[in-house]
Amino acid sequence: MNSLWNGYGNVTDRQELKSMANEKADHFLSCASTMHDGLRIQKCAMQLRVYPDRAYGTFTDTWYCKHRHCPICQWRKRLKWRSRMHQLLDSTPEALSGKWVALTLTLRNCHVSDLKDTINEMNGAFRRLSNRAFWKANVLGGIKFVEIDQGASDFQSAHPHFHCLIQVRPSMHQGNNYVTEERWAEEWQGCLKAHFIPRVRARRLTGKDDELRHKILKCVSYPMKPRLHAPHRGWFLSMAEQIKDVNLIQPFGQIRGWFSDLKHQEDCELKRHRNDVRLEQKPTTFQWEAFQGSYQKD
Ligand SMILES: [Zn+2]
Repeated sequence: MNSLWNGYGNVTDRQELKSMANEKADHFLSCASTMHDGLRIQKCAMQLRVYPDRAYGTFTDTWYCKHRHCPICQWRKRLKWRSRMHQLLDSTPEALSGKWVALTLTLRNCHVSDLKDTINEMNGAFRRLSNRAFWKANVLGGIKFVEIDQGASDFQSAHPHFHCLIQVRPSMHQGNNYVTEERWAEEWQGCLKAHFIPRVRARRLTGKDDELRHKILKCVSYPMKPRLHAPHRGWFLSMAEQIKDVNLIQPFGQIRGWFSDLKHQEDCELKRHRNDVRLEQKPTTFQWEAFQGSYQKD
């Protein structure tokens, strides 16, 4: 599992992801209205062309389906966000010298068929939260990730929650300004207009330089972690339908601005370098063999 968390994808990792993708594809293929989703995911990463590269590390070319529920494409997305965050921390020194908080905002579980409405409600509450005076005084920006788990006891229920990585002013952790986890929970409760106190977790990211960088990157990757077990078919199809148009990752405030600056500095050098490698080297190719459930070297 650890290699899936940190690795850049050797063939064994990819094999595991491809098997997970096929499970998801089978879910979609079981229903006439989602068959096209299943066929698309099935075609993802059928043939791998692996190029050795001493300068920047081995890389793999293949066709990706880019479906939001494809575990292979989710894993790539996760690497992309990690690398964007790396880039941001490299190019923006004030980001790494800033103060960061990992904030988890939850709500009671809902029926999976109410997921869309529940997430809309949570987004409304989040907007209210970010308009509150204490937020404006303390929070400089961040990234909000929507994560959805299957309810643990009731298989028809869903547990949508937000993982937020936020950058705060240093004064937020000083004296009277200190915002405790209880205070966060009260503010979130108020914004949700809930009669219960929702579970909220606010954890300060401590450490300097590499230690802090590691914690920030972990917060960015965590909500996109691969699932070891495919959820129950009915639940999965209902969840996929419900979150079709939901935006799952949203940078806001200062960080959003920093990310859009990064877009203009895409790594052209790496692209050029890889094109040279493609021209000079012959790749090792692997083909997905469905019967064996593994990649076979050509
Ligand atoms: Zn894919």
